[in-house]
Order: sequence, then C-alpha cells, then structure tokens
Amino acid sequence: MDVVVAGAHEVRARVKSTGWRDFVVCRRLKCEPDTLPREAPNQHDVVHDDHELASDLDLVVTLPQVLSQRRRSQCEKLRLRFELVERDADLAKIKQRYLSDKELAFVDLEREFNATTDAVVIRLQHQPAWSNVRYVAVIDGRGAKQNRVWFSRWHEIAHLLAEPQIKFVFRRTQAFKREPVERLMDQIAGALAFYEPLFLPSLRRAEIDLARPTLRSLVTFATTACSHASLQATLMAALRHIERPAILIEAKPGLKTSERTAEARRRSRAQPKLRAISTGHNNAALRSRIFVHRNMRVPGDSVIAKVFAGEAHLEFVPHTECLSWWEESGGERLARQPVVVEAMSAGENRVLALCLPEYGETKRS
Ligand SMILES: [Zn+2]
Repeated sequence: MDVVVAGAHEVRARVKSTGWRDFVVCRRLKCEPDTLPREAPNQHDVVHDDHELASDLDLVVTLPQVLSQRRRSQCEKLRLRFELVERDADLAKIKQRYLSDKELAFVDLEREFNATTDAVVIRLQHQPAWSNVRYVAVIDGRGAKQNRVWFSRWHEIAHLLAEPQIKFVFRRTQAFKREPVERLMDQIAGALAFYEPLFLPSLRRAEIDLARPTLRSLVTFATTACSHASLQATLMAALRHIERPAILIEAKPGLKTSERTAEARRRSRAQPKLRAISTGHNNAALRSRIFVHRNMRVPGDSVIAKVFAGEAHLEFVPHTECLSWWEESGGERLARQPVVVEAMSAGENRVLALCLPEYGETKRS
C-alpha cells in the first residue's frame, strides 16, 4: 500500500495522474479539506471532522478511488462518513436522519450498541448515484469509549481499504477482537493512525529525547499533541521510535492462566495479583532479546508495585531495578539486566511503566 504525504498542489497532480493508487495523508496545515482538488470531486473522499482538525498533529485523509486508467469507470470508491455518538441522544438523532432517507438498517441502531461494541458500519441502500457517501460508520464515543474513537475510525478505514469490494449491509466492530481479520485491521489501523512520516517529526518538535526519553515527557506529548488517541496507544507508537531497547508495561491485578482455568471450572477462587497484563517491546528490545512476558507477576520491590500501592510521590521518578527480579510462574527468573523503570498511575487499579535497559552508564541522577 502506498502512503503519500503531500501538499495541496501535489494532491491535485496525483489525483489527475493515472498511476496514483491508494491514498494520501496530508498534514492539516499543508492541505485543508477545502483546498483539496475541486476539479475531480468524485475521485476522492475526504474523511475528517472538526474534532480531528483541532490539533497540530491532526490528519486530513483523502481516500481516492484505486485509480487505473483502464478500470477508472468501474473502480471501487471508498465513500465513508463518520457519525460520532457522544451521548445517548445522538443515537436517536442519527437514526432519525437516516430513516428519513429510507435507510432501514438504522432502525435498531440503539440496540446494536452494547458495552462491547465500538462501531457499527452500515452500507447505505438508497443513496442517489451522485452521492459521495456509501458507508456510514457510527462510532461510539460515550464514556470510557471516548479514548478509542480515534482508533475506531482508523479501524473502519482499514476495513474499507483492505476489503473495499465486500458487499455487506451491516458490520459491527467489537472492542475485544478475536477474529484474525479483526486483529489484522487493528494492526493496519495502528500503522495508519501513527503514520511515521507525521508522527516522528511531531515527537521531534516536542523535543522528546529519543535516545533517553522520560515517561513524563512522553505522557506530556501524548496528552497535548495526541489527545485524540488513547494514552497507551500513543506511548506504544512512541516506543517504536525510541533509539534504544524500551518496554512499556501495563500492570493490573490479574490471575495466571492456570488460575483462570481453575476459576472457570469453579475449582478454586484465586486472589488476583499485580501482573504485567500487557507488554510492548520496540524492535531494539526484541533484537537485544530483552523481554518482560505478558502476565508475569510484578516484583514487590519494583516501583510499579509501589505506585500501584498508592505511593504517589514515586510516580515518574526513575528507579534502577533489575529484570532478574521478575519471576516466571515456573520459578525461573529473567536474565540479569539493569533497567531504569518509571511508573505512573493510569486510572483505577492500573499502572503504566516505561522500562529502559541500562548499559552501565548512569547519566540520569
Ligand atoms: Zn472490524
């Protein structure tokens, strides 16, 4: 898939040219939606809304039809509109609007959304041929789902890019994705949402020291420049650009697999312990074979456990620790590796931590 960053003039040139496929991502400042090429209105769709235009990092995404001179007339176009649900009343309004256009798939809209539904995509059936909307993605942004709106949009874009010819009428996207295709869409969405040629310069503009970042600097960046994405997603994206091995740990109370199985069979009721319920490693960490495995128990001496226990004064304070403190459920310990760990409380019962291996140097005080 080609992804092109372009200014308005370049967008025009490329839309006209025959060789341009896939889509363009433009920086907002270089290419406002109203400066997009007017002379070829059916050859692209602009996906944007006012929320996304709010910050410097925001992207305007144009999704032109997959162009080839030969197939231009019958080419699939990506015609997607987003409807964001911020409060319950929005659902009824959206439903009414489309029902009045005879789009009957909207009739059960309120019931389609439950606690685990992130988005519903409906293929419109009664739009005139000239309409530039064929799909409507209704994204649930109520309550805690607000953090996932940015990502949910990209997930739906990924679907339409990857499977544009599928003639579905209705599709639901769940928060917990088991099917391989759903997980693949998440991966594509991750690559699109934090598209490197835009994301890396914004990290640099924020003066993040990619050789030795602090958790605080990354969190400040995430909450100011990337407020549309969830904190953890932004930290994971930043991790990829850190120029040394780096691990992001999400710690929460949880059971080990055998305990979960036993509990499922009602054989025992184990006490949840603080565990690394998710871990992310950048390529440098993978190359150096430095891992903290998912679901490992957090060592009691680690600053992660202390911040979890409520020692707020230790938040964002770098602590030198050793990975050999971490023990597998079989009793085996991780290899000796000094690390600097910073932890922060991230909501109820949840701690996020950045773990950077030390190589003997102690620049940080
Ligand atoms: Zn999906």
